[in-house]
Amino acid sequence: MPIKVLDPQVVARIAAGEVVERPASVVKELVENALDAGASQIAIEVKSGGVSLIRVTDNGAGIPSGEVELAFARYATSKVGSFEDLESLSSLGFRGEALPSIAAVAEVDAVTCTAGETAGTYLSLKDGAVVSQGSRGRSPGTTITVRNLFRKLPARLKFLKSTATENSHIARVVTQYALAFPEVKFTLIIDGRITLTTPGKGRLIDSVAQVYGLEVARNMLTIKDRGWQGGATASAEVAGMVGSPAISRSHRGYLSLFVNRRWVNSRLLAWAVEEAYHGLLMVGKHPVAIINLSLSPEEVDVNIHPTKTEVKFRDERIVFTAVQRAVRQALIELTPVPAIEEVATAYTAPVPSRQASWLPVAGSDSFAASATEAPPTPAVSLPVLRILGQLMSSYIIAEGPDGLYLIDQHAAHERILFDRIKQQRSRREVEVQGLLEPATFEVSPQQAEVLKLHCEQLAEFGFSMEPFGARTYLVRTVPVLLHDKDWVGMMRELLDSLSGGDKGDWEEKIAIVIACHSAVRAGQVLTDDEMRELVRQLEPVAVPHTCPHGRPTMVHLSSAQLKREFGRG
Ligand code: ADP
Ligand code: MG
Repeated sequence: MPIKVLDPQVVARIAAGEVVERPASVVKELVENALDAGASQIAIEVKSGGVSLIRVTDNGAGIPSGEVELAFARYATSKVGSFEDLESLSSLGFRGEALPSIAAVAEVDAVTCTAGETAGTYLSLKDGAVVSQGSRGRSPGTTITVRNLFRKLPARLKFLKSTATENSHIARVVTQYALAFPEVKFTLIIDGRITLTTPGKGRLIDSVAQVYGLEVARNMLTIKDRGWQGGATASAEVAGMVGSPAISRSHRGYLSLFVNRRWVNSRLLAWAVEEAYHGLLMVGKHPVAIINLSLSPEEVDVNIHPTKTEVKFRDERIVFTAVQRAVRQALIELTPVPAIEEVATAYTAPVPSRQASWLPVAGSDSFAASATEAPPTPAVSLPVLRILGQLMSSYIIAEGPDGLYLIDQHAAHERILFDRIKQQRSRREVEVQGLLEPATFEVSPQQAEVLKLHCEQLAEFGFSMEPFGARTYLVRTVPVLLHDKDWVGMMRELLDSLSGGDKGDWEEKIAIVIACHSAVRAGQVLTDDEMRELVRQLEPVAVPHTCPHGRPTMVHLSSAQLKREFGRG
């Protein structure tokens, strides 16, 4: 084919791909525009995962009628006038790419009105071109309606995940901005259901309560940072709330990071927050935190990628130290020290090194490497063992025909239960326990989407749950294994681990989480009988040497090794 310049429509669609990756990207751009317009109320409505409809309505400044069409032209923006303006950027948008990109991959209607105008303006676009326009009455503000996203891009459409997954990405975007802007009243409506409303009264704690529920809100500590001066020019101010160590989570999804109230993806900041919790959290746990870092605009470059979520700091050291100190101070000042120590030492189950610390750059290679670091364990099923005692209330010491076994009681029990749960499930013989009174279970908007998707599968594992209002479920039965355990915590951990969007093997995940939460804990004193029973159950297991997470359940010292250790080999 000879070289020729691409048709503008093709160029627009190619470029749009950078900004609009999925429905949640559209929501993000439209919400950012509404915030830039100074709105105090923003309503987001989506249908079918955002593919058939996304509508964002705000009461912001509006677009003057003479400029509406221009707003949809590429690189048209009212937010910066020159390259130098980028140095003092205070708005979320600046590239003038969002509206044209969205219009290139969907059908878009805009209705907008400024305070000074008597009538609003209406504009409708298809394939990036205006198909109709006129005037339309409305109060000041803007409504952008996006329909049939990616209809002309079947490849993109195919790449999208299930409706529930796309909804969960959308809910995440909205909840993050609801946290960053507590003075704005957010409403999120997914398929006709109100999934989130924030009061918009300016108190972060109110947004936290709406997004994460009351239990988390009750355990939040406020950061009282006076700013941190680093050198003559740079200053960084940290604000927000952090969760007490008691409400830690099993993944980083509860870490919300903002720079000048822009939601960002920053390993550096996440690392700083986690460092501040050093020694206060159980291994493998992550904090709940909402952090906004205020920097003078020239200290940070947001013009790294069209989605504007990556940032570069001029001085990473200042930023890291400011965040780490502010968070640490909040934790130390406001949390009674003994409680922290109790939490920090309560759990001693071994965790693989890849979870032990948060490495700023952890490629998949380093994961593979750490997986092979596990101590060598025998490859066949266990011989009959004689129990000698318990060590540190966590390990069972046993003797076998060939030497000594140190068994991690939690990991070993997890393995036993995991096998049992999978077996019962495949035979449809799951033992369930009816609750005397159905319990209510509150979920975040994101968790609600995941729960909807997995409700049936959870039933197969013994959880019968039904919707009870927008964000609450009624739980009628739980697996017998969990009835006297913290099944609420388990469910939350599970929903969070499934919400990443990756399909993975959900059955495996559910079984693992149930096993983990039903198993005896490290630190629990066991009687001789209990230890004998546990080891007896472990003996016939097909893979007794690792727990379902792949961690070793035991360390074996053979007679030969023992002799060598004592210089007799
Ligand atoms: P950017 O946000 O980078 O300027 P966009 O394509 O998102 O680019 O928007 C283009 C312009 O349209 C904005 O600069 C702004 O002037 C106007 N605009 C878009 N959305 C809104 C809105 N909700 N309220 C007021 N003005 C808006
Ligand atoms: Mg914008």
